[in-house]
Amino acid sequence: MSCGYRCPRDEVHDRCADLNPGFQKYTADTAPDGDADLDVDFEDFRLADCPKCQGILKPDVVFFGDFVPKDRVYSALDTLKASDGLLVIGSSLMVYSGFRFCRYAKKWNKPIATLNLGRTRAEDLVDLKLNASIGDTLDAALQKL
Ligand SMILES: [Zn+2]
Repeated sequence: MSCGYRCPRDEVHDRCADLNPGFQKYTADTAPDGDADLDVDFEDFRLADCPKCQGILKPDVVFFGDFVPKDRVYSALDTLKASDGLLVIGSSLMVYSGFRFCRYAKKWNKPIATLNLGRTRAEDLVDLKLNASIGDTLDAALQKL
């Protein structure tokens, strides 16, 4: 988190596997949000530290409550500006960091479609709302291609 070291996720996985050989026997299904629930005591689990500074490693993702890096926001806005429209999949857009792209799309007269089970924050902005399963809908869309 402090020295800027970056590596592929698989490298961290392999290092954690090497540090925790007793955990190889466990398996779990992956939840839609990427989590996996294991009924295991993690007291002895050893995390891989940064090989450069021995500090804490963190995935290069924005966690809930974190700020999206400005250069990433500007890059996304540039992409949106050059696009024909905005398709939001699997988000309620309740967090402003995602909702703002709908506001920009509307401001720039881009059509907006959402594919999500349940209500989204952009109900008043969307041109097409698909209140449906993501997997089923995308599978059906692929069949049409
Ligand atoms: Zn480091």
